[in-house]
Amino acid sequence: MLNPPNEIDLKTNCIIAKQRPSTPQSKHIAILGAMPQEVNKIIELMSEKEITIIADREYHSGYIGPHKATVVFSRWGKVAASSTVTTLITHFGCDCVVFTGVAGAVSDDLNIGDIVIADSTCQHDVDARPLFERFCIPLTNKSFFKPQEDLVQKALNAAKDFIASDELNHKNFHKFSIEEPRVYKGLIVTGDQFITDAASHEAIQSVPEVVMAVEMEGAAVAQVCDEHQVPYIIFRTISDKADHSANIDFIDFIEDIASQYSAGIIKYFLA
Ligand code: SAH
Repeated sequence: MLNPPNEIDLKTNCIIAKQRPSTPQSKHIAILGAMPQEVNKIIELMSEKEITIIADREYHSGYIGPHKATVVFSRWGKVAASSTVTTLITHFGCDCVVFTGVAGAVSDDLNIGDIVIADSTCQHDVDARPLFERFCIPLTNKSFFKPQEDLVQKALNAAKDFIASDELNHKNFHKFSIEEPRVYKGLIVTGDQFITDAASHEAIQSVPEVVMAVEMEGAAVAQVCDEHQVPYIIFRTISDKADHSANIDFIDFIEDIASQYSAGIIKYFLA
């Protein structure tokens, strides 16, 4: 597809270079993981690997099966993840973004070890009133960023297929009282706080839609992808209930459960 013709801005006399819209047939997939252990497991799936270091991040480029991919640890929080995904899009030319990590449960339906695919995201800590409505991202006129439905469905199928497959290792499930993990889709909210107390947990539910899970990067990545018109999906393994017990056995959980989920779901997603 050709790029649309450029236009001249009559006020500034500058050329406005128009970006071509993304196509569903992506050529270079970006995979961001919010935990280094998850990223390492995904890198194990890659061939022909090479590393590029930009702004203190290690970008691992290569192939997962036939797909060109670049995999990186996003770092934590909205600014870190936004910076990382911007590099993936503008420097590496990635045209589809997959974000994986862990999250705290907000919905009572969720248990540790369940998986949530975001069908919508919101930054729960944005409040620019009275300039803009609560939760509205200034100058975008949006409070919710929604990924493409077909990608959400594809991720949902990949997660369900992986969970039902022989590849799922149940060995350490008992350590975290996981029985049968389930896969959901729903609203994931993001903010620059690790939520571990009842008041913050309660406050998150003031977002005017039903919240499934809370984390620290997803909605920021969604906003950047939306602005660049790059399709994306965000999926999260529930690691805690976003309450006082939130950091118990966190690292063990990432190593035993979340890392195998991330790599497994990505493998099925790209199959
Ligand atoms: N404390 C960890 C590292 C930070 S965890 C350690 O000791 O290694 C931060 C990651 O967990 C972020 O990617 C965030 O998105 C996710 N996360 C998991 N549970 C969360 C919760 N209850 N609130 C906010 N973010 C959460």
